Formats: sequence, structure tokens, C-alpha cells
Amino acid sequence: MSLPDLFANRTLRMSASEIRELLKLLDQPDIISFAGGIPDPAYFPRDAFAEAMDVALSEQAAGVSLQYSTSEGYTPLRAWIAQHMAGLGVPCSPDNIMITAGSQQALDYLGKLLIDKDDTALVGWPTYLGALGAFNAYEPRFDRLDAADNRAPEEIAEAAKAAGGRVKFAYVSPDFANPTGVTLDMTERAALLARADALDCALIEDAAYQSLRYEGESLAPFLAMEIEAKGDIEACRTIYLGSFSKTLAPGLRVGWVVAAKPVISQLVLIKQAADLQTATLNQIAVAHVAQAVFDDHVATLRDVYSTRMRAMLDALEEHMPEEVQWTRPEGGMFIWVTLPRGMDGKALLERALKAKVAFVPGGAFYADGSNANTLRLNFSMVTPARIHEGVARLGQVLRAEG
Ligand code: PMP
Repeated sequence: MSLPDLFANRTLRMSASEIRELLKLLDQPDIISFAGGIPDPAYFPRDAFAEAMDVALSEQAAGVSLQYSTSEGYTPLRAWIAQHMAGLGVPCSPDNIMITAGSQQALDYLGKLLIDKDDTALVGWPTYLGALGAFNAYEPRFDRLDAADNRAPEEIAEAAKAAGGRVKFAYVSPDFANPTGVTLDMTERAALLARADALDCALIEDAAYQSLRYEGESLAPFLAMEIEAKGDIEACRTIYLGSFSKTLAPGLRVGWVVAAKPVISQLVLIKQAADLQTATLNQIAVAHVAQAVFDDHVATLRDVYSTRMRAMLDALEEHMPEEVQWTRPEGGMFIWVTLPRGMDGKALLERALKAKVAFVPGGAFYADGSNANTLRLNFSMVTPARIHEGVARLGQVLRAEG
């Protein structure tokens, strides 16, 4: 007997994330890495967290903060989130909110909630790799749904039926998506919402980067548009995922789900069975810090990251060969580069590493591994001077390719 022979079939679909494997190689200081996808630790609100932890661990408070608490999440944190959501045009009550261990946990729970084997999950082409990984464990079939795909909903539903299941949800990140940095405009949002209506499926709105806008006006979340159209969150198919990872700190693992109450009640049962609750102390600390500094802190991040984004856009303009294209995001952490057809991001990475610059090859972000001639560049972790140097190196590697 060998233990791996006993592993469940679902594990056959799990493979190490290319990004995580890569990040292991990038500790060398002379490599300029655009491969990350994480906030700059220099800007964590450390003092605010130290103060919040002190309060939470005081003699009067420790009995609560070190204790078990409810699966729904810490009530004052849910109240803060309800207010934050109202500011985004999403009137909801704390009963429409469940706290999760980051939005990654919400993706896993939604896979568990919605996917039977061979059901269809509609995703962007490309989409967030971590969402593909989370859903994959529930053995779905992936199909495409994005602004560039104009198949009739009936055709998508037929294909799902032929594969032995039905379309359960569309997963979309409307603002500064990972990996492309692209934002859907209001027409595209309305069209996708109408398609979810026509398919009668859930719409999972991943808003991980929503607060990190550097240019242009904030656009209404799907959930806000749907509440406006249908009058009440209880009539909505959108399930909104928020996270404090990109605004405050990812290490505390605090995110949230907003949805109609029956969805929240079922997710609470899933959470009870999975991990009982998100860490009480972390939720209390995040509630304190959010109340004290959220807006100011996000303003600081916008300043820092927008300078880096502009530096990268300028550097691309200066150093990329003519035939290379890239997105021009209005926020977030990423720029998506498309190389001439026939070029391969992975092969390019090997040569780029020799020139001491790194990125993530784009093929991993496609459910079918297609479009290998793409790359994801991260700008949140690199200072403007190093961005210029790194993009210059990348330009040289590309020119050497001929
Ligand atoms: N969604 C997207 C689009 C992301 O980029 C990430 C993190 N890279 C997550 C969800 C998960 O983040 P967290 O679990 O830290 O909230």
C-alpha cells in the first residue's frame, strides 16, 4: 500500500501553483521580480494593528478575543462592512454578511455550495488562478464567460447539459482583475448581469481589488446594479466577495461574503463544518483598524501604487518592442502583456531569469492552458526605479528573441 494510492480522485486535478513554485526561486536580491501579487509590506498599518491587538488582549477584552465566537463573524466587523457596502451602493444588513478567512476561503466554500461534479463554472479567459484551483476540487467543467465571448446563453447552457451538469455560476472580477488589470465598463457589467439572468445562474463577484482605484470614477458593483434593478438584496443572484488582504493586511486572513440570507445561512453551515469560525482575535483587530484608519490608509496605498503603475506603463512604452501589447489599468496590482503569437511566456521566463527579471507566464490563468504568449506583471512590490530597470531588462530579453 502506498498512501498516494488512497488519495481521492479530486486530488488528481490539483497541481502546485506555478506562481508559488516560482516565488520560491525569487529570494535572490539581484532579481527584479514582477512575479508577485502581494501588497508591499512597507505599507502595512503596523502601528494601528499593534494598538488594536493591545486593546483586544487587555484584561477586560481577552475573554472575548481569545474565545470561540460565531460562524457568521464578529458583529461589529459585520456592522462596519455593512456600512462600507452601503457606501458602494449595496444596502444590506449584517445578516447578509459572513466573515471568511480571506476571500480564498469564500471561493472554496462557494465551490462546495454550488458545484456538483460535471456542473459548469463560467470563468474569465484568463481568470484568477486561485479561483480555478479552489473550484477544481469540486470537479466542475470550466467554460468561458467574459465580455469578449458572445455566444448565446442557450448555447452555453446546452454545452453544460451535454457535459452532464448545468451552469451553476459565473465568476467575475469587475475591477482591475487579476491577472489582466482590466475593469469592466457599465455596459459590459449590464451585459454580464443580463447573461447571468438568462442562464439563471449565480454571479460570483470577486472584489478583491475594488478599493485600489488610481484613476477614473468608481463603478457600481454587480450587486449594487442588481439591487437597484430588483429592489432588494434578497432577490439577487450576485454573491459579493470582499477582502481586507489588499487594503489592510493579508496575513490576518479576513474577508467577507455579501449575499441574500439563504446563501449566507448555507455558507454558515459549511463554515461550521469546515473551520467553525474565522479567528476571533484577527476579526476584532481588523474591526478596530478598519474603524480607525481604513480610508486614510487606502488613500496612502493609492498614492504609492498609482506611482508604481504609471512608472511601469511609462517603462513599457519606452522599452517594449513594437509588436508587444499591454493593458492600461485604472487600479489594482497588475498589467497584462501580450507577446506576438507563437512566443511562449514560460520559455521567455527562463531567459528573463538569466537577465535577472521575473514575471508570471500567462498560460496558467487560462482554464485550458491556452494563450501561452502572455505575461502578468506586478507593480505593487517594486519601487519606480527598479520598475524602470526591470522593464528595460525585459525589453532586452524580448529584443534578443528577435
Ligand atoms: N481573489 C483575487 C482576484 C485575488 O487576486 C486574491 C489574492 N491574490 C484572492 C481572491 C484571495 O485573497 P484573500 O484570500 O487574501 O482575500
